Amino acid sequence: MNIPFLDLKSPYTELKDELDSAYQRVMESGWFIMGAEVEAFEHEFAAYCEVKHCVGVGNGLEALHLILRAYGIGEGHEVIVPSNTYIATWLAVSYAGAIPVPVEPLAHTYYLDPEKVEAAITPRTRAILPVHLYGLLADIDPLIALAEKYDLKVIEDSAQAQGAHYKGRMSGSLGHAAGFSFYPGKNLGALGDAGAVITNDDKLVEQVRMLRNYGSKVKYYNDIKGYNSRLDEMQAAFLRVKLKHLDEWNMRRTKIASTYLDSLGQLTDLILPSVLDSTEPSWHIFPVRHSRRDDLQKYLKNKGVDTLIHYPVPPHLSGAYADLNMPKGTFPIAEKIASSELSLPMGPHLTLDEVGYITNAIREYIAKI
Ligand SMILES: *Cc1c(COP(=O)(O)O)cnc(C)c1O
Repeated sequence: MNIPFLDLKSPYTELKDELDSAYQRVMESGWFIMGAEVEAFEHEFAAYCEVKHCVGVGNGLEALHLILRAYGIGEGHEVIVPSNTYIATWLAVSYAGAIPVPVEPLAHTYYLDPEKVEAAITPRTRAILPVHLYGLLADIDPLIALAEKYDLKVIEDSAQAQGAHYKGRMSGSLGHAAGFSFYPGKNLGALGDAGAVITNDDKLVEQVRMLRNYGSKVKYYNDIKGYNSRLDEMQAAFLRVKLKHLDEWNMRRTKIASTYLDSLGQLTDLILPSVLDSTEPSWHIFPVRHSRRDDLQKYLKNKGVDTLIHYPVPPHLSGAYADLNMPKGTFPIAEKIASSELSLPMGPHLTLDEVGYITNAIREYIAKI
């Protein structure tokens, strides 16, 4: 068998007619930036996420960056971020001119520890930026309580959690605003770069709309120094097609995740993801942890199973943040995750036969060592 980590060809095979006709619709319209497709997608995605507003932007990093800018968060301010996340979460804060203040996750989970978050709050803190890493929901309620107590914003990084639920509410609708990425590999993936901001905040949405389009409300009248960060018509048209299938594709992921959880449950030294009560993850990634991760990855590779590591270097140890001067040992939980995490194949086109083959290979490996 040869099992890729993620199959990005089958989505086209499955949705060929719908995607081809979306492509044709845009080509025939002769209109490519800021038009009917983007507007329709914004309405449809806001409705899907059960919020008032959606603004399509260039990518997930820009979505977070524009939210911060729109809230006036910048120089002299601090934003609390997870120590274990993709570096984009931190970069959004740096782009805005603020300082990312990393906080460790709660042990045995991948989400922020509220006690450590509270300890990290200073008079300069303006926001908490939790991440629904792997599509597993972060525990938001304790963070909202802290935000109320200290007058902060809660901005969700929902890049990996399209369609996930927290206590019956949609991911992205839980805080003051959320950033989404539609990078092709995400659960709702465009066929290029794309992203969105969602919120119920009328004032915020007006600012983000201006910021994404050169700081203008009326073409060629520029009120603030904005950016060029727009979702384009072609990607919006593709996203409208794929949004209709998101719930079903997330259900397939859920089935795969429960198969993994059932068949890998009893293995010594293999740590499976724990799911917070009353949440429904989007299972963007199925992360396991093992003390001999590199060895296990090689073993699976020899069996034809591709895996990835999310992420091999925590942001504080990356060259990009050498200036923060946070040597090895500063965030032991994030470092431990980086050295032991392995992402198994996951996606709506992975078959249960393939999942069986993967779990057998993992069992073989663990029986052997
Ligand atoms: C993908 C991702 C982003 C960035 O999204 P892009 O569209 O690649 O800019 C941000 N945060 C997390 C957690 C992500 O997984």
